[in-house]
Amino acid sequence: MVKNTLNVGRISEGFVLDHIEAGKSMEIYKYLHLDKLDCCVAIIKNAKSSKMGKKDIMKIECPIDFMDLDILGFIDHNITVNIVENEEIVEKKQLTLPKEIRNVIKCKNPRCITSIEQELDHVFVLTDEENQVYRCKYCEEKYSRRR
Ligand SMILES: [Zn+2]
Repeated sequence: MVKNTLNVGRISEGFVLDHIEAGKSMEIYKYLHLDKLDCCVAIIKNAKSSKMGKKDIMKIECPIDFMDLDILGFIDHNITVNIVENEEIVEKKQLTLPKEIRNVIKCKNPRCITSIEQELDHVFVLTDEENQVYRCKYCEEKYSRRR
């Protein structure tokens, strides 16, 4: 019998992130600093999806309050967040664009005060929800989610 190597098994506590845009899981991995956490992470890339064609799925085993849902909402608010406790999905969370994000993206304006004062937090504020535009709180440098 051939073993199904894609079966990554259940997690007891943590998150299953579904409907991630195909290829974006590594970006999420980086933004959530999962490389620095001592937790079990399974990434499934290019899974078949009836709705999206292809999608990524992530399973992250970690304490529930570990996860910064604001960051996830910032990366892609179409992700479905399933919260798992005792091996069962107890809640599905809908993500929204956060009003403010702190130390996720950096201001690229060389004249910005955050470039000069290294200890300052990098704060971006949502200024245009429809176009997903964030601006630096200090210098108003634009950061657009649309590429
Ligand atoms: Zn700035």
